Amino acid sequence: MRAVDIIIKKRDQQQLTKQEIDFFVQGFTKSEIPDYQVSAWAMAVLLNGMTEQETTDLTLAMANSGEMLNLSSIAPIVADKHSTGGVGDKTSLVVAPVVAACGLLIGKMSGRGLGFSGGTLDKLESIPGYRVNLSVDEFMKQLREIGIVLTGQSADLAPADGKLYALRDVTGTVPCIPLIASSVMSKKLAAGANVIVLDVKTGFGAFMINMEDAKKLARMMVAIGKLSDRQVRAVLSDMNQPLGEAVGNAMELHEAINTLQGHGPADFNEHCMVISSHLLQMGKKADTLEKGRELAEQILKSGNAWKKFRQLVEAQGGDVRVIDQPQLLPHANIIEPVLSQDSGYLSMVNAKTVAEAAILMGAGRAKKGDPIDYGVGVLVHCKVGDEIKRGKLLFTIHANDKKKLEQAKNILYSALQVQDSPCKPLPLFYDVIQ
Ligand code: URA
Repeated sequence: MRAVDIIIKKRDQQQLTKQEIDFFVQGFTKSEIPDYQVSAWAMAVLLNGMTEQETTDLTLAMANSGEMLNLSSIAPIVADKHSTGGVGDKTSLVVAPVVAACGLLIGKMSGRGLGFSGGTLDKLESIPGYRVNLSVDEFMKQLREIGIVLTGQSADLAPADGKLYALRDVTGTVPCIPLIASSVMSKKLAAGANVIVLDVKTGFGAFMINMEDAKKLARMMVAIGKLSDRQVRAVLSDMNQPLGEAVGNAMELHEAINTLQGHGPADFNEHCMVISSHLLQMGKKADTLEKGRELAEQILKSGNAWKKFRQLVEAQGGDVRVIDQPQLLPHANIIEPVLSQDSGYLSMVNAKTVAEAAILMGAGRAKKGDPIDYGVGVLVHCKVGDEIKRGKLLFTIHANDKKKLEQAKNILYSALQVQDSPCKPLPLFYDVIQ
């Protein structure tokens, strides 16, 4: 078999066999197929799609590219959650310690920034020393000892996704249902959890802009999970406007710390409580979603979720002084307010445009392996439906470069739409698929 023939077959809109998919995934995992061929193949998949069978075969091939963890010796139920990518989406940093502090083990493999969306691993790496490449033994030991792991793809765990993910980030091949479904579910299957909540985002700042595509993606992932005997629930959530206030790596980490200490932004806190309640109910820590929510709220209030996060950071080598005193986190040198030029009602705060401003200042990558500026980003002080007056503070830009700051400011103004008549706030959630 030759990689080029598989690329041509997909370019010509033909269905790939399981053997061809296995060959291609094994080839790029071992670096026998070069990045340029993998990129061409990913673009052919994006343009021509894959059948459900191909997507399932791709997911299993990617999950099997490393070890598949069996966690049954650690606990009968281990939970996991994953977001399909958004702006200001630091949910895992709060939900994982909340559910772990409730006694539900959570072993999670996250991703880096992808396209315009932020990544949990980049946010965690703004803590000096935090390791995102745990070995299988380290993963198992930590899960057993403290009940929580937040790591990334490694040579042992879903290495195929690690490689493909980094290429998709910089080759315009992110918004594609089979590539997203296989990327997410290969990590979930490899990490071994049997209870999984998927936070499927829809809106301007999501890879699935419309609801129909988001539901298709959700159904695909739920079906793949079922085939592998996992209990999977997909929650469809809004990503038209940024979640919470902070967009940018260390700034988002700081917001997650605030939330764990009981003073996070209302929308982000609510989002975390809902996702936690699904996990707690599926993980049999609560009989109903309502009871799950009560438990999540209690644990947050008790300070135990914050303690669990500290334990996690310490276990993975992070400098806990930095999270105890978040002013020690990487930060930008220039801080500039952005004030409203209009009065009226906000009908749009486009999440993708806000992310583009943050990325321009260095919060994301343009090329594979580019360094990230952890300190830069944007604080968003407005939501759709807000009444605003000329001069109101809308954003605070944190930048390290004056020229980029000016460009970011113009981009941020273009994220907004103001109208004369009142408009409704956006919901946080739309639907649940299981
Ligand atoms: N999260 C992932 O892990 N992969 C994607 O492709 C998108 C979101």
